[in-house]
Amino acid sequence: MKSVLIHCCCAHCTAYTINYWRRQGIKPSALWYNPNIHPYTEHQHRLEAMRSLTKQMDFPLIIAEGYDMIDYFRKVTGHEAERCRYCFRLRLKKTAETALKRGFSSFTTSLLISPHQEHDLLRGIGNELAEEIGIQFRYVDLRKRYSDSRRITKPLALYRQQYCGCVYSEWEHYANIKID
Ligand code: SF4
Repeated sequence: MKSVLIHCCCAHCTAYTINYWRRQGIKPSALWYNPNIHPYTEHQHRLEAMRSLTKQMDFPLIIAEGYDMIDYFRKVTGHEAERCRYCFRLRLKKTAETALKRGFSSFTTSLLISPHQEHDLLRGIGNELAEEIGIQFRYVDLRKRYSDSRRITKPLALYRQQYCGCVYSEWEHYANIKID
């Protein structure tokens, strides 16, 4: 059976994404690797929500070792206005490498369901990594299903984040500003 390793950004974007790939006849597993989520306690709350979703929807979850926050900051420092490019690459690269190492036939990301992310950038980085690492990137535009995914998680009472993840996005959200 075909398989896909899904980089999961949060439980709420993952729910519909898992169902979608199941419906395509492709066995989905999830990878948790999000060193872009700050502070660490926020990262742990989101991971806990993900663990809970895994049990409720019955799919395998791989949790990457460690918390590479320092790597994240080394990559984005000096490029704060276009930090998402470096953030996506860091997380998708780990997913593609893990997928290859563990014998999956492809990789993708739950970020493709979010209307808040730079969709074309994600697609471009996914395709670049597919070529670089030698594993298929499964692209799909699920943005119209964003609210369906939230409808799945609503009755589960999972922790719900208020900002994208990094300290920059937390500042932008609460101060209502845009870093440029
Ligand atoms: S805003 Fe979100 S996607 Fe962009 S760098 Fe921060 S955590 Fe990553």
